[in-house]
Amino acid sequence: MKQKETTLAVIGGSRAYDLLASASFGAEGKKARVVKTPFGDSAPVRKFTGDGFDYFFLSRHGEKGYEVSAPAVNYRANVWALKKLGVERILAWSGPGAINPAMHPGHFVVPNDIIDATKNRASNFFEGTGLGFIRMSEPFCPELRAATATAIASDGNQFHDGGVYVCTEGPRLETPAEIRMFSAWGADLVGMTLVPEAFLARQMEMCYAAVCLSTNFAEGVAPRDFREGELFEGMLNEAEKEKVENSLSRLPAILGSALHKLSNAQRLCKCGLAMERYRKKGLLKNPLDAAR
Ligand SMILES: [Zn+2]
Repeated sequence: MKQKETTLAVIGGSRAYDLLASASFGAEGKKARVVKTPFGDSAPVRKFTGDGFDYFFLSRHGEKGYEVSAPAVNYRANVWALKKLGVERILAWSGPGAINPAMHPGHFVVPNDIIDATKNRASNFFEGTGLGFIRMSEPFCPELRAATATAIASDGNQFHDGGVYVCTEGPRLETPAEIRMFSAWGADLVGMTLVPEAFLARQMEMCYAAVCLSTNFAEGVAPRDFREGELFEGMLNEAEKEKVENSLSRLPAILGSALHKLSNAQRLCKCGLAMERYRKKGLLKNPLDAAR
């Protein structure tokens, strides 16, 4: 029997590597490979095994800690590499700050829209061509969103289905005035990683959705004293830290459940047809070939 191809991938945020490699459903498979791409080397990609399925795993910020800050991630190389390996669907994981006061630290959010407030990131595979004029009515894949939402909700986690994620350039955190502005724009969460990843995945006609774990309140949303020498310098109190840690430990099970569901589900969404217009005109066969 022909072995089933690996078409699922997880792009992890900080600490994802440790959590997934040691999770009960995932034993580390083949050794890490670095994919050479027209945009440079990808981050190391590993193949993990779940309950009856395989998936590729890539850690954005490095496998040991936070070695690569958000603006320095080679998003194009990472997304291109996953496409080249045959991936069709990507679940991304990120730990943004909450602008919406209802999205407490430790709550899960599956965002449904994005605002791009980055400033200096390579966010197009098709530079120098006319390709890439793509509609963004649903920047996250509805099928992936639904599978992820079901996986989170069924386990009794505190969860928000939908939210607007604004992506900033970083690596610094945002000012109080910026957060007030983003709030007025309608943003619920603020982070530094889903852009351009989500848009690049769409250019490559891959499905993409994100599991966000609210990690702290954004600046000015809740009163906090500055505490020097700590991560986020006091933006998170002890009770919130505990909640975030507790939720973080549930993430591998959530991802496992969502991936399991997806591994048995046919792909019926429109993500795989994002570039169809260009194919019809004879301008493109495979987006991988055009992205050079
Ligand atoms: Zn899709």
